[in-house]
Amino acid sequence: MAVLNYLRTALIHHKHTLMMEVLKGHGLRYASLLHQEAYIGGKWVSAASGKLFPVTNPANSKVIASVPDMEVTDTEAAINSAYEAFQTWQTTTARGEVAQSPASSKELFFLRQPIGVASMITPWNFPNAMITRKAGAALAAGCTCVIKPAEDTPLSALAAVDLAEKAGFPPGVINVVTTSRANTPAVGKLMCTSPKVAGISFTGSTAIGRVLYEQCASGIKRIGLELGGNAPFIVFSSADVKSAVEGLMVAKFRNSGQACISANRILVQEEIYDKFSEALEEAVRKRLTVGDGFNKEVNIGPLININQLKRVERIVNESVAAGAGVVLGGKCHDMGDLFFQPTILCNVTEDMACFQEEIFGPVIALKKFKCEEEAVNIANASKFGLACYFYSQDVSQVWRVARRLESGMIGINEGLISTAEGAFGGVKQSGIGREGSRHGIDDYTYLKYICLGGIN
Ligand code: NAP
Repeated sequence: MAVLNYLRTALIHHKHTLMMEVLKGHGLRYASLLHQEAYIGGKWVSAASGKLFPVTNPANSKVIASVPDMEVTDTEAAINSAYEAFQTWQTTTARGEVAQSPASSKELFFLRQPIGVASMITPWNFPNAMITRKAGAALAAGCTCVIKPAEDTPLSALAAVDLAEKAGFPPGVINVVTTSRANTPAVGKLMCTSPKVAGISFTGSTAIGRVLYEQCASGIKRIGLELGGNAPFIVFSSADVKSAVEGLMVAKFRNSGQACISANRILVQEEIYDKFSEALEEAVRKRLTVGDGFNKEVNIGPLININQLKRVERIVNESVAAGAGVVLGGKCHDMGDLFFQPTILCNVTEDMACFQEEIFGPVIALKKFKCEEEAVNIANASKFGLACYFYSQDVSQVWRVARRLESGMIGINEGLISTAEGAFGGVKQSGIGREGSRHGIDDYTYLKYICLGGIN
């Protein structure tokens, strides 16, 4: 109940802030939420070292802010704050559950209790959603948290914690430690190994997830991992081609292709391949406008940083060298240093880089297939299992394929599957645990079993 009240106050305050800022006529709609200090123990603070690191706009590489470059000592302070705040915050929410007893002399109860301080490490690609999905569940369970946002996007985390502070969350319940890439490994290690931390929730690459998993092993810490994907997008011959093209445009180009559930391996049944690829090419040519996201008509922005741009360029070049055809694009865009052309590759084979790796950019890789068995086998031939999409109007095929795909999430005749109500997460090397839905809270609670005997 207390959490609901806090959230309600946050919404009211948020509306008020919005109105004030619009009235002030700022170019930035929420200018008062732009912070250049970290947030620990209810205070806006600098790094103990006084060091800062810059935050840039990827559309033009200009520095827009500088935030504290925090180290292990700052992170320790954040963990101590969260630990102290947990002693009271844990009592704000509770749910009990009573089970059927096998004997009339006993009653059986399961208490759900918060695990304690939760560390959260998040990526840059959805900087608000990645934090709120974790923090919302943790706070509702009665946990306190220490959040380390990505180096590329610390400002969103600081804006979110500003709203939380205005809504009345007590000092220490939510802490944000900003840090540059150079300090991240040491800070991340402490967030996994501190005896005051009960668990960690991470969203990011499988490679880093593996490191954190290992670091949590010695303390047997609770861990939730939302990792990389390599989503197949299958268009069967019975599909409604128009809606399959629509679905792919969303599943591929949202956030310029930089989403963990982006469609990556596009499989189209041979009978409808030509029709589908022609409609797709037309949609990509006509409907995508590349530029700075501050312009309203733009729907494809830059990639986040130079490493990401080089990675996309390498994947395309290697695939083309291995025999893929370029239907559209294929090169860096002249819009700026971090832009890549919306691209369609054809004649792709399974061994090519664009099928083996998560592209994380605005590149479509098309492959023709003959039958359902072949498509399902190709889709499952991956160490990842985050999201899958398929289009079919054949009801039996819908169930057959949905049952067989090795994936935590499946979009059937739908390209946009993310929603707070959905249980988000992967299988295989795409992660452990779920976020969102009523299941998202499980990672932040222990189940305590109580047996009350001696009832006459
Ligand atoms: P990343 O390199 O793994 O970074 C993610 C976060 O981990 C950042 O905050 C990063 O900090 C931090 N980090 C890096 N090295 C670390 C270390 N040694 N110890 C502790 N923390 C460390 O991932 P990314 O490239 O930013 O994000 C893209 C990946 O995330 C893709 O693979 C994508 O599929 C995945 N992703 C998955 C989901 C999901 O829900 N399954 C959602 C979104 C993204 P710095 O920024 O300071 O390096």
